[in-house]
Amino acid sequence: MRTWIVAGNWKMHNTSTEAVALAKAIKDGTAALKKGEVVLAPPFTALHSVAQTIKGSSVALAAQNMFYEDKGAFTGEVSPVMLKDIGCTYVIIGHSERRKYFHEKDTDVNLKVKKALAYGLKPIMCVGETEEEREKNVTRAVVGRQVKEGLRGVENIDNLVIAYEPVWAIGTGKVATSAQAQEVHAFIRAILKENYANAAASIRILYGGSVTKDNIGELIAMEDIDGALVGGASLNADGFLGIIKNIADMK
Ligand code: PEP
Repeated sequence: MRTWIVAGNWKMHNTSTEAVALAKAIKDGTAALKKGEVVLAPPFTALHSVAQTIKGSSVALAAQNMFYEDKGAFTGEVSPVMLKDIGCTYVIIGHSERRKYFHEKDTDVNLKVKKALAYGLKPIMCVGETEEEREKNVTRAVVGRQVKEGLRGVENIDNLVIAYEPVWAIGTGKVATSAQAQEVHAFIRAILKENYANAAASIRILYGGSVTKDNIGELIAMEDIDGALVGGASLNADGFLGIIKNIADMK
């Protein structure tokens, strides 16, 4: 019922030239896919060149962030209008690195999610607890708050994707067990059901955090895990294509 998604978050990696080469390898490597969605999130500076590279293929383009105003005196920011114009379908919002280094709060995430949806961009809204929060046993409180606050006032979530990314698993090589991830994914879906009874079952919830082609099999076997948001392993075509293949074989 839910179509899987694998999204590659390239973070602050790849010049335009490097991005084109990687995007081409992924486009070619996924040309025969019959189902699922592959999404690439290059840095802003490579969005245009990657958009040109994947044109005509089923690979979709995402931005890694956006601002919540259409235009104006906001030096250094990029608006949803600009992202749509350049060919983005998705936008990652509230990644833990944005929350940590750029002090994004749930209120910012909420404004961005609403604005993305208003402009027809599909937000990939990231949530997840830190190691300390997991140890203190407040994972549900933290993730529950992030989901509810991120979606405050949002009436229609049909175009929403959520990524559960435990902060302690991002870029650390420490992947959540499939049981740990499934538990939080099911919890997130239960929250969605409370407010969006009809849509909750069809919302894709991705796992992110040190995903590789070797560990994705166990995770993707879980009922509420609908794909992956991949950082490090998406920078290498073979590694990323391996993740895609393993998911496509199982879902
Ligand atoms: C991410 O940045 O969203 C991520 C999951 O990174 P990594 O796969 O490197 O842990």
